Amino acid sequence: SPRLRVAPSPTGDPHVGTAYMSLFNLAFARQQDGKFVLRIEDTDRTRFREDSEQQVFDTLHWLGLDWDEGPDIGGPYAPYRQSERLDTYRPYVERLLAEGKAYHCWCTPERLAQMREIQQKTKQPTGYDRLCYGKTREERAELPGFSETPVVRMLIPDDVELTFEDLIRGRVSAPRPDDQVILKADGFPTYHLAVVVDDHEMGITHVVRGEEWISSTPKHILLYQWFGLEPPKWAHMPLLRNTDKSKISKRKNPAARLTWFREQGYLPEALVNFLALLAYPPAQGAEGEDVEVFTFDEFSKDFDWRKVNPVGPIFDLKKFEWLNGVYVRKLSVDELASRLLPYLEAEGVLSGNSSLGELARLRKVTELIQTRMALLTEAAPLVRPFFVGDDEFEYAEDALGQLKEDAPAVLDAAISALGDVSDERSGVLGSESAWQAAAIEAALRSAIVEGMGIKPKFAFGPLRTAVSGARVSPPLFESMEILGKTATLNRLQRLRD
Ligand code: ATP
Ligand code: GLU
Repeated sequence: SPRLRVAPSPTGDPHVGTAYMSLFNLAFARQQDGKFVLRIEDTDRTRFREDSEQQVFDTLHWLGLDWDEGPDIGGPYAPYRQSERLDTYRPYVERLLAEGKAYHCWCTPERLAQMREIQQKTKQPTGYDRLCYGKTREERAELPGFSETPVVRMLIPDDVELTFEDLIRGRVSAPRPDDQVILKADGFPTYHLAVVVDDHEMGITHVVRGEEWISSTPKHILLYQWFGLEPPKWAHMPLLRNTDKSKISKRKNPAARLTWFREQGYLPEALVNFLALLAYPPAQGAEGEDVEVFTFDEFSKDFDWRKVNPVGPIFDLKKFEWLNGVYVRKLSVDELASRLLPYLEAEGVLSGNSSLGELARLRKVTELIQTRMALLTEAAPLVRPFFVGDDEFEYAEDALGQLKEDAPAVLDAAISALGDVSDERSGVLGSESAWQAAAIEAALRSAIVEGMGIKPKFAFGPLRTAVSGARVSPPLFESMEILGKTATLNRLQRLRD
């Protein structure tokens, strides 16, 4: 059965592309009852970052894109970290050297840079000029630009095959490759050798990766041929693009970092849905409409490589925000409240160990705000007024600014009207007398809208400011119900004073 893998390099915050590649690999692996492997490609020691691997684990787990084999859980082909597999690569290199398919190169980086400069100036084809090819170490040492520790290069034959079949793109052609370095001076293989050896050793049947590797695939196919191995099937995913069509990059766009989405309060299941939608057409509903909201299982069930759109999809954050809002509203109130907890704790709205009473209150507030937010980070300012002391919070500038000269009279009327509402939380169902939104609303309408003749649009502004400190707040009467009679009256009185 098929075996697929994702092979991130631990070079910093995990890239959104790592989740995107994992998703498409995993969708096919699950559909085919195959395996999904996580391999860490840490052969580039100059870009290696210590904490990056753990972040890859954490973010992929957060997204529910779980692997069957990997460095953290082991598996039949362990180790799954390339830096721990150096002995595996060596015989492959030696075999190519012995067969004359690879050669040592002692050129210094300075000489290579010079060579490239001349090639560009004189408009010659660029690429290694094979100065070292066919020379012994002693012969080469006579010439300038010699370094003591050599690298090993592939000897790309003139008739190298430049086209291959891609599951997404059909027949693909790539430019002629350079004499690729496969073993570096530090004894580490380069990506190109390690990826071929490991995909073979780990029984990988389908290589699904970014389109930036299309130009490398002829080299990889050549290595498979040289080793007498059957190459895997290839699928090159379109790279995600910014709205200006440039490739999404961690250096330029915060939304390229997976941790950013969690920080911003996106839901992992919404991100999975969105990443799928970027390169894959929505299913058709019963009435022929696009079904844009789907689970991983639904996506995986009918997955087909030929449906992947090879044109680089635009990563439209506005659309993602909309989709996230759809997911927020789909959650049960309890589930949403528990997802909000860490964000509220991070903002200091709640402490790390909330009491049962606080959690019950959070549940009620969550019910009020569920339709008023798209990102989990939007909850803190809406929830905060329910968890501060009555005289602790500050009034927002714009909330105070909208108060008119009738505000004191409105507050007085509200205080007096609400004084007559019972502070019992529950009463006879539908009773007008208990401290419930309906009774609160009835009392306030009759006192302010009817009694004072102020339009509802203006009548409740001062009350909203008094209760929440903000101009925009969750529904007023429900908020007062949750706060309770004493706190509500305290807050009205405080603004009045
Ligand atoms: P930067 O984004 O800053 O250039 P990077 O491109 O160096 O960082 P890489 O380490 O090259 O990031 O890529 C990490 C992984 O993310 C690779 O598997 C790559 O295929 C994938 N990737 C990089 N850019 C994109 C993109 N725009 N869309 C989808 N996947 C991408
Ligand atoms: N380490 C490579 C990357 O991060 C893997 C590419 C591949 O999947 O072959 O892009």
